[in-house]
Amino acid sequence: MKDKAHIVVIGTGGTIAGRGASSVNTSDYACSVLSIDEVLSGIPQAHAIARVSAEQLMQIGSENFSTTHLLTLGKRIDTLLKQDDIDGIVVTHGTDTIDETAYFLHLTLKSSKPVVVVGSMRPPSSLSADGPLNLYNAILVAGSETSHGKGTLVVANDEIHSARDVVKTSTFKLESFRSPYGPLGYVVEGSPRYYRTPARRHTLSTQWSIDAIDELPEVGIVYAHGGIDAAVIDATAQSGVRGLIYAATGNGNVAAHVVGALQRARRRGVQIVRASRTGSGIVIRNAAQPDDEYDWLVVDDQVPQKARLLLMLSLGSEQRSADLQDAFYRY
Ligand code: GLU
Repeated sequence: MKDKAHIVVIGTGGTIAGRGASSVNTSDYACSVLSIDEVLSGIPQAHAIARVSAEQLMQIGSENFSTTHLLTLGKRIDTLLKQDDIDGIVVTHGTDTIDETAYFLHLTLKSSKPVVVVGSMRPPSSLSADGPLNLYNAILVAGSETSHGKGTLVVANDEIHSARDVVKTSTFKLESFRSPYGPLGYVVEGSPRYYRTPARRHTLSTQWSIDAIDELPEVGIVYAHGGIDAAVIDATAQSGVRGLIYAATGNGNVAAHVVGALQRARRRGVQIVRASRTGSGIVIRNAAQPDDEYDWLVVDDQVPQKARLLLMLSLGSEQRSADLQDAFYRY
């Protein structure tokens, strides 16, 4: 029989490492205060399913994650995955930007070994805390042969999501993590069960490798609303960004009075990408706006915060608009 899988759990902070004064407080608590060793001490059951090592890489709320944090985390995982004696990685992470970090890893890691990012909506001090079972399930998923080659995964609330699709959708509900096409599978009675695999490219089949990336160009997001001021677009375009994701209303509609500001930004060399603030659905090229004529891009079905990361990576390696557009259809 094969030895237990060796899983390294990397702590970065978040609610899963939080503590509240009251067990009935599920929203008012301090996050990122428990060490990864303290978090793991809450699930001694994990040692029955894996050989677990732990390291504390950061201790921050995920709203503080910057490009530097993404690169530091990605490079550390890359180093660990290259070791023959390590079978998989679990990253404990705040849930606010768990979808962004997981997607960045999904696009840049060069390994088929499982990488699972996990967080919790309630701190360990709360009644019905979700962190212990989420973390146990994440270790289980990371140690399973069935998880190989599926890219970076996010495990929460008994579900296994693809990093490409998952988004945090609620400020407090346990079923906050949703993928528009559903999870890849579930954790049922102590084992992962997959029902589908990611169709888009990830990890070994992308053009990026984390060990070759030391910096990334900046890309901003402008969130559309009724009565939006064109000055917000001008200010973003002049802030040094190389790209601007316009989180437009509906299926990528742009209010007539801000089209000129986006065109001005494009003339300054800023790539303009039409996205949607709705949270799901496809933005069709040349439908709501003449993208060919304006030399703008569309996100396909990607949400603004992940479109930003994809454009940052793409701008680091491609310059032609056609290639940048192609990336949104490939990944
Ligand atoms: N500040 C937290 C974060 O790191 C809050 C959310 C959570 O971890 O669930 O994202």
